[in-house]
Amino acid sequence: MRAVRLNAWKSDPVRTEIPIPEPGPGQVLIQVGGAGACHSDLHLMREFGTGSEAWEPPFTLGHENAGWVHTLGDGVRGWEPGQPVAVVGAWGCGRCARCRAGVDIYCEDPAAAPVPGGGGGLGLDGGMADYLLVPAERFLVPLPDGLDPVHAAPITDAALTPYHAIRRSLPKLTPDAIALVIGAGGLGHLGVQLLKTLTGARVVVVEPRESAGRLAARSGADLVLAPGSDTVALIRDFTSGRGVDLALDFVGSDETIATAAKSARPLGDVTIVGIAGGSFPVSFTSLPPEVSVQTTYWGTRAELVELFDLAARGLLTPEIEVFDLDDALTAYRRLEAGDVRGRAVIAPSATYSG
Ligand code: NAD
Ligand code: ZN
Ligand code: ZN
Repeated sequence: MRAVRLNAWKSDPVRTEIPIPEPGPGQVLIQVGGAGACHSDLHLMREFGTGSEAWEPPFTLGHENAGWVHTLGDGVRGWEPGQPVAVVGAWGCGRCARCRAGVDIYCEDPAAAPVPGGGGGLGLDGGMADYLLVPAERFLVPLPDGLDPVHAAPITDAALTPYHAIRRSLPKLTPDAIALVIGAGGLGHLGVQLLKTLTGARVVVVEPRESAGRLAARSGADLVLAPGSDTVALIRDFTSGRGVDLALDFVGSDETIATAAKSARPLGDVTIVGIAGGSFPVSFTSLPPEVSVQTTYWGTRAELVELFDLAARGLLTPEIEVFDLDDALTAYRRLEAGDVRGRAVIAPSATYSG
């Protein structure tokens, strides 16, 4: 089968041929319908390889995946070949307290997981291939009627990650609240949609690309700003001087974390989601009082099920650009050049072929 593989850190992926995997006991083979190209894959290609990683290439990329159940391993019940499914991306041990609650993202026994702190496309073979081997049927979520795999795939990460980050701040997002979204790419445009769907908060977006700024406006942003020396002042003006209740940073550079921190309202939240590697000095005076700063990683199985419900009701609509599997490297090049609107999704098959 075709596969787009990362063979070494600090290298470009390669489109190659590998054998179709055979599902063992408890495993399921998925025919891939959609695999999202996440900016994290660019971090894997460019910045990983410092020696502190829990896993190593080679592996097939693609950690936001959906498709159709193809072959069931021994003992797997309750799924039918051809059934449309999404794949929960973080693969934990399945037995610790966190995994039992569907919070595999923070598995407490990573040594017993299929791969410590990762999943398909993050240490093990992912979905940028004709087929994806899923190590346990509990990582499958059925798709609701009307949601196809290419639109479902980005929901498993590009929507799930902002949803998890927003949910933990919901008590602060009262109808008079203002939220800041920095970066309106794959995650950010869905973060804006989710803030507008779930809360009465007004949303201000900081985004340098004009096309992404327009997408943010279409997604419901009340104000879109290009980053510049006066960004914090303009954000504070928009909030009548008081600051934002939640700042979501989907970039994570020194500059964007500083913008988020300086824009926050006392008692507000600053949540760093982007992994550009920036930092910000925390001291008594560097942040407004009682501002909480946190990082978040992905989301839970229960949150993914909730998002599919929102999507089925038309309340969450990922903006996608679809690419053939043979064009996956073009999709990554365009993502790196800032030339993707919303999420690039690789579609190895358009329909289930049996
Ligand atoms: P993307 O490339 O689709 O979007 C990033 C957006 O940020 C682009 O629109 C870009 O124009 C914009 N941007 C760049 N510099 C900016 C600046 N200075 N100010 C404001 N906006 C700026 O990327 P994505 O796939 O949405 O991922 C965003 C980040 O989140 C990446 O670092 C990715 O690795 C990370 N990520 C984290 C998690 C997690 O669980 N924490 C999950 C998925 C992705
Ligand atoms: Zn991702
Ligand atoms: Zn676990």
